[in-house]
Amino acid sequence: MRVYLDYNATTPVDPAVLAAMLPYLAQDFGNASSIHSAGQRARAAVDRARDSVGKLIGAAPSEIVFTSGGTEADNLAVFGVVAAAPQSRKHIITTAFEHHAVLNACQALLTHGIDVTFVPVGRDGIVDPEDVRRALRPETVLISVMHANNELGTIQPIEEIGRIAAEADAFFHCDAVQSVGKLSFDVNQLGVDLLSISAHKIYGPKGAGALYVRSGTPLEPRLFGGHHERDRRPGTENVPGIVGLGKAAELAGAHLNDDAPRIVALRNRLEETILEEVPSVRVNGARNRRVPNTTNLSFERAGGEALVIALDLQGVACSSGAACSSGAVEPSHALLAIGLSPDDARSSLRFSLGRATGPQEIDHAIRVIPPVVERLRSLSPRPPDSVAAQ
Ligand SMILES: *Cc1c(COP(=O)(O)O)cnc(C)c1O
Repeated sequence: MRVYLDYNATTPVDPAVLAAMLPYLAQDFGNASSIHSAGQRARAAVDRARDSVGKLIGAAPSEIVFTSGGTEADNLAVFGVVAAAPQSRKHIITTAFEHHAVLNACQALLTHGIDVTFVPVGRDGIVDPEDVRRALRPETVLISVMHANNELGTIQPIEEIGRIAAEADAFFHCDAVQSVGKLSFDVNQLGVDLLSISAHKIYGPKGAGALYVRSGTPLEPRLFGGHHERDRRPGTENVPGIVGLGKAAELAGAHLNDDAPRIVALRNRLEETILEEVPSVRVNGARNRRVPNTTNLSFERAGGEALVIALDLQGVACSSGAACSSGAVEPSHALLAIGLSPDDARSSLRFSLGRATGPQEIDHAIRVIPPVVERLRSLSPRPPDSVAAQ
């Protein structure tokens, strides 16, 4: 049995999304900028998708900019706002556990004379709005805080931070890639000026996404070319991808109410059973302020990478959050940001459930996880500090 528990990494394309996309890869292949009827059919499809995405988050269609995904949406928000701002506004506030698309965009701006404050994150995986307020300066132009963290699932106090941003006259960007389709929200209630979405995290295709840009928000493009997307993002529209995102957005809205309670019950059963059956396991992040589908667990004395590989052999796909760069396993920056030791961060696993997860998938995961952890622990030497403590 294959059990996929890595929906925060990516999701399969929903069959209805695929069906909606197929005509735009084949007979309706027109360029949405062409005047002839083939072009007009493509244009109409892009417009319908824009309506669907706008509707899901409470935005006007004109406020939706289609991009190549969440990474480009995040980059367009960060660079676009800074480039459009007066020279005197040279400060950004973000958090230490943002996705690398935001983190590294801000990092890149540091070398362009922009100052960035990376506010800390609590042990509970939640940013304190007062830390954001304390970081404010007269020259702060942008605050960027994610909605749900991709590794922990913890939900950030976006509405409160939105009020702080508004009082300070700073623009507010929110990476909502991991909350769309999992939480019900709209951009006005959140008080955001910009918000990022990715299609492949909500059962749409890879390589499609959107940035919501509140009407009146000054934004310079990052790419230069034609007049597409109201001069905010040039390039021939990825019509099949955009149609897929539109359909995925429609389905996300329709599924939200029945998916969430079903998935939260399965996630809790998985988590509680592991906690009961495996000694020395800790849940990372506030258990009562998470999206329904995610659990992040530290398995003392068992390497995350080794666990991922061993579980994969038993048919369970999950993630260690650690990135393997240049042969060395780097602990997750998000887990370090909430105060885990490098060892604990390296021994953590993320399980993220989705629409096709059912009781049988969880039964299988619960059967294989405890013995795999026990076996890996028996192979690994005790760390020096626990030896010393005896
Ligand atoms: C996946 C992800 C992204 C990047 O989206 P892509 O479409 O894969 O580029 C950005 N932010 C978060 C929180 C994500 O989980």
